[in-house]
Amino acid sequence: MYLKSLTLRGFKSFASATTLQLEPGITCIVGPNGSGKSNVVDALAWVMGEQGAKSLRGGKMEDVIFAGTSGRPPLGRAEVALTIDNADGALPIEYAEVTISRTMFRNGGSEYAINGQSCRLLDVQELLSDSGIGREMHVIVGQGQLDSILHATPEDRRGFIEEAAGVLKHRKRKEKALRK
Ligand code: ATP
Ligand code: MG
Repeated sequence: MYLKSLTLRGFKSFASATTLQLEPGITCIVGPNGSGKSNVVDALAWVMGEQGAKSLRGGKMEDVIFAGTSGRPPLGRAEVALTIDNADGALPIEYAEVTISRTMFRNGGSEYAINGQSCRLLDVQELLSDSGIGREMHVIVGQGQLDSILHATPEDRRGFIEEAAGVLKHRKRKEKALRK
């Protein structure tokens, strides 16, 4: 399984439809400050169902819709489509290629689709839940997060690892029980 392509249309700074073709292995996105590199990562999180405006570096969910520039009027909707190569059957669906898409209008909520079939957020979450790429997974390390890990005290660093491994909640529960 690997991410095959990502198409953004009206998402943040990507007013016109823009498709990134990805290959198996490592992809690097380079560009000047403010050129939209992090917006691409935001699009990836958003299409997989991210619900937090802050995680998407905005104040409200509508902030993902192209807000306009001096030469170009704002748009009414944002759309992102993510195509995943599923030839190895890692995703529990009978398709060798799976396209997840999310559309959002200024006046309301999001619409999701899997291979063009309208579906619920829950369906997207379930499809991705065992794949290691869902939004609950620690797969997106934000700008600045790396710095905080590198500069963390050993105790804090242990916390990051425990959180990633899913043991933090058990340790917190244990500490709470011992305090009683
Ligand atoms: P850096 O190298 O500094 O991290 P970057 O390439 O990651 O930069 P981004 O943060 O992806 O840059 O892009 C920031 C740009 O996206 C800003 O110019 C901002 O105005 C623009 N932008 C963000 N949201 C929207 C929106 N809704 N509509 C239009 N432009 C937007
Ligand atoms: Mg950035």
